[in-house]
Amino acid sequence: MNINNNNILCSFCNKNINKIIYGKKACICEKCIYFFKKIIKNKNIKTYFDINKNKPKYIKKKLDKYIISQNKAKKILSVSIYNHYKIINQYIKKKKNIWNKSNILMIGPTGSGKTLLIETLEKILKIPIAITDATTLTEAGYVGEDVENIIYKLLQKCNFNIKKTETGIIFIDEIDKIAKKSYNPSITRDVSGEGVQQSLLKIIEGTISNIPPKGGRKHPQEDFIQINTKNILFICSGTFNGINNIIKNRLENKCNIGFNAKYKKINKYNSNNIEPEDLIKFGLIPEFIGRLPIIINLKKLNKNDLYKILIEPKNSIIKYYKYLFKLENINLIFTEEAINEISIKAFNKKTGARGLKNIIEKTLINIMYKYTSEKKIKKIIINKDNINKNNEPKVIY
Ligand code: ADP
Repeated sequence: MNINNNNILCSFCNKNINKIIYGKKACICEKCIYFFKKIIKNKNIKTYFDINKNKPKYIKKKLDKYIISQNKAKKILSVSIYNHYKIINQYIKKKKNIWNKSNILMIGPTGSGKTLLIETLEKILKIPIAITDATTLTEAGYVGEDVENIIYKLLQKCNFNIKKTETGIIFIDEIDKIAKKSYNPSITRDVSGEGVQQSLLKIIEGTISNIPPKGGRKHPQEDFIQINTKNILFICSGTFNGINNIIKNRLENKCNIGFNAKYKKINKYNSNNIEPEDLIKFGLIPEFIGRLPIIINLKKLNKNDLYKILIEPKNSIIKYYKYLFKLENINLIFTEEAINEISIKAFNKKTGARGLKNIIEKTLINIMYKYTSEKKIKKIIINKDNINKNNEPKVIY
């Protein structure tokens, strides 16, 4: 046994922690017992996704409460998630895996709700989803995170329940940033980008992945937790800036050779018309695209969408600030013109709904600083001028 300053150390983590259980040749501390218990707890997973309740229409209706517009995306996602778990349920019952999973690629401008969709799915369906970012990933051997780390994140989300992890969902954002340098000049990453795609291929397709029990880099001496990724659903997402030009060129070439003259008139050059060859031109490798058979397009949000985002969702930004003031017994009111102005300003920033909070925060920061310590205020009214000029709001005592 390891001994340090007369204290016996845990044979597993080598630390001296109060409660230690001694064996003949080794001992284990309380922390390691809990940790290993989680790993060993390999009971049959309960079907945590209720197939009878969570029909696609039900999922979409729930998503509608939080996500404005993006109806097509919400529909496809609801059906895809439902189908995935339907197959998983059969697999759990019959232990047979006949069909390959249908991983998803989401394409849409920044701030259009890609991450929000996934976060909301996790919240409403209570399914384990690990949210990760492709820009942090590197090929094994380079500085950065190994691709296995994204599975470790899911394992953590599932409280180290291996069976639950093996049927969870992994969301990889900014997947366009690991495109190889090609047509698109904005992409600076080259060799490592393609290398990361290659490393991701295996785990997306399905493999037995060796995960270090405490995350991080692999060490040859340590034991690994083995996770089968065959039934893990992967949802990749990115803005794919510049893809519209690639689509445009392809369609125009077709028109020029007279292949489809009508096409030119009726088609808009957006990601609704995307074909795998466009993604290859962008810098994704064909094998990678082949593993993401479902493509979901999110549209650019317009001013009206941004207006609705401010007020309609269950947890909307304006409701949030109203609530903050309500806790001080102040009724915070935004005039319709003020809300309109916020949505116009955010739209002009070209960052989708991302700009909304920042604009309101800028307007309210002084007001929150100044008035929340005054006791007799009943109402504060924010109008268009307060948004534009940041001047004093109307205060009613
Ligand atoms: P991205 O498409 O870049 O992943 P996000 O989903 O992270 O964008 O959106 C950023 C924020 O903007 C969200 O947290 C949410 O507050 C708001 N938002 C974006 N799109 C929508 C939407 N369609 N409906 C409601 N809120 C949205």
